[in-house]
Amino acid sequence: MCGVNRYFNYTRTIVTGGAGFLGSHLIDYLISRGHDIVCVDNLLTGSKNNIRHIYSHNRVSFEFIRHDVTQPLNVQGDEIYNLACPASPPQYQHNPVYTLKTSVLGALNVLELARETNARILQASTSEVYGDPVLHPQPESYWGNVNPVGIRSCYDEGKRAAETLFMDYRRHFGVNTKLVRIFNTYGPRMNINDGRVISNFIVQALRGQNITIYGDGSQSRSFCYVSDLIEVMHQVMNTEPEFGDPINIGNPGEFTMLELADKIITKIGGTSKLEFQPLPQDDPKQRQPDIGLAKSKLNWSPKVTLDDGLDETIAYFREALEA
Ligand code: NAD
Ligand code: UDP
Repeated sequence: MCGVNRYFNYTRTIVTGGAGFLGSHLIDYLISRGHDIVCVDNLLTGSKNNIRHIYSHNRVSFEFIRHDVTQPLNVQGDEIYNLACPASPPQYQHNPVYTLKTSVLGALNVLELARETNARILQASTSEVYGDPVLHPQPESYWGNVNPVGIRSCYDEGKRAAETLFMDYRRHFGVNTKLVRIFNTYGPRMNINDGRVISNFIVQALRGQNITIYGDGSQSRSFCYVSDLIEVMHQVMNTEPEFGDPINIGNPGEFTMLELADKIITKIGGTSKLEFQPLPQDDPKQRQPDIGLAKSKLNWSPKVTLDDGLDETIAYFREALEA
């Protein structure tokens, strides 16, 4: 089946987590490049609203399969992007055992599928594999500083185990695997109740509510706009089969949460004040990607500034809240 697709020069792509924030943008991008899509999602944190617009496209081959990746998967495709996993701390901590199972059993199931069907496969890994980093910025060679028994471990250790599985399937079974370590990415289609910082601050400011700063707001993150990430995920998938090393993707522009809140309040206006709340356990103090590898290997750098990305995201949430 895969060979037949390649003969006719189109690619059938499976996207797990395709009804989520990143997955739905990835699907739009791949459709614009002529791919046929199979979207696999159990709608845990995603929504059909994120993919509904695709059904109105003419001549697009798009299939939605409601499926939990902790269960084996039987679908044919040329390539698999594995994005299925809750990504927001409150959401992945809501059912931590299930989060761990999603990362580990999910990775196993999609890797088995890739092995059986000879598909290439990309894992949406995360900067969280570096934990609360003591090396700054973080290069791919850094092994990280992860608490294995804390409240973030279900996500961090699950993603680390998934990376291990990807590398072992490559070494042991010759599967063409790719690992992308994604740093904080934001944009339209984040869920209003997602719980991550950018959506929280924007929604709070638009509603005239207080902005919730956890801790003293001096912790930093580096924020990447969604379009920059999606473009390079596709590039990584298309690297030569011999390349399977982890690769950092993110925007090195680093901001404290106080700076972020200030930017958003200035852009939106209104009456919101800062409300300081306790810092969650193990919250990383700083994070910035070293993107040297992405630059040298893929000639990639992010293009969208935080200011421009925030303007797009604020416009999206303004409309979503009005609707
Ligand atoms: P999201 O919550 O919007 O999307 C996750 C999707 O996976 C949702 O549609 C959800 O319903 C689906 N899902 C969850 N568990 C599932 C399961 N067991 N079976 C099938 N589907 C399941 O989050 P996102 O920001 O779009 O993140 C997508 C991926 O990228 C995740 O794997 C996440 O870990 C990774 N990532 C994201 C970021 C970021 O900043 N957005 C950073 C690092 C890594
Ligand atoms: N954060 C905050 N207020 C919020 C949500 C998050 O101050 O309403 C902080 C959080 O403590 C962390 C940073 O913002 O230091 C980024 O949090 P997010 O959940 O977006 O991502 P992650 O911690 O996984 O990088």
